[in-house]
Amino acid sequence: MARFFKRTPAPSGAGESASEAQPRDIQPDPDRIGISGSVPFVRLPDPSRLFADRAKRFAALAPEHPLGAYLDFLARLAQAQAKVQAEHPFTPALPEDGALRLEHGMPALPRNVVTDDPSCLACIDAVLAVVDLDGAPAATLAALDALRAMTSEERLDLAGQIFEGAIPVERMAECVFVAAGLQVYLAACAAVLDAKALKPVADGVCPCCGGAPTASLIVNWTPADKARYLSCSQCATLWNHVRIRCTACGSGEGVSYYGLDEVSKDVQVETCTACHSYLKHLHQHRDAALDPIADDVASYGLDLKIAEEGFRKAGLNLLFVG
Ligand SMILES: [Zn+2]
Ligand SMILES: [Zn+2]
Repeated sequence: MARFFKRTPAPSGAGESASEAQPRDIQPDPDRIGISGSVPFVRLPDPSRLFADRAKRFAALAPEHPLGAYLDFLARLAQAQAKVQAEHPFTPALPEDGALRLEHGMPALPRNVVTDDPSCLACIDAVLAVVDLDGAPAATLAALDALRAMTSEERLDLAGQIFEGAIPVERMAECVFVAAGLQVYLAACAAVLDAKALKPVADGVCPCCGGAPTASLIVNWTPADKARYLSCSQCATLWNHVRIRCTACGSGEGVSYYGLDEVSKDVQVETCTACHSYLKHLHQHRDAALDPIADDVASYGLDLKIAEEGFRKAGLNLLFVG
């Protein structure tokens, strides 16, 4: 039987448990949204590695996994993303009012980059063209056929809905493919933004594209060891978020961490009893191969268990929308 274990954070917020607390850790200032002088506020994505690394991670997780067939499909989809990224270079048409948007506390990228820049549709259509679905289930092939039969406007409309966080439930299977193309496009947009100009928008909102986080990562590549970053579900930007504070409601009270025996000890959930939400929490400082999107799918057992406890998912994974 699965063993569910609980860890309670130290009240001081210095670590995630009394045993892990390291008083000399430099922590972001809890009074400000995600900004600390000692850690960069954002790390922009490197599209040249992002999708290729993710494809490898999906492929490594698939064998002998209960969701192996789906992980294998997502490995192929990430390979298609990597291929499009490498073989279809483009210069994103970024908004001219970018500085004004940041000044007003808005994310850098508005919805109309998705609908007005022809490169976005080109990325979506290129993913549809190159993805290798040999042996995929009939429903997956049917979704791909349905997308190809749509007009460009209809595919772009789906992309716009995904960008706004309004994924149509009746089009879930199609949305996975559209989201894959959208991720290639938005990662390229985010990669050319000025990281130093970006500002916090709100808890749990990507400063580049306004997307929701898929997971939070504890990283080891900043001057502040074990800083925490949220990973954008859309553009893959990482932005700093204070540790032991709920990304959905901002509460620092009642935050706990859970893991599951069948799931790597480096993948946990952070739960909040103030709003009953949870977010995947990846200890990437212990395992550099952990990928927010791939490991979120692979740790689905943790989602099932924590849902039984009455928590709802605050994170969003566009390749695995349940
Ligand atoms: Zn984003
Ligand atoms: Zn909360």
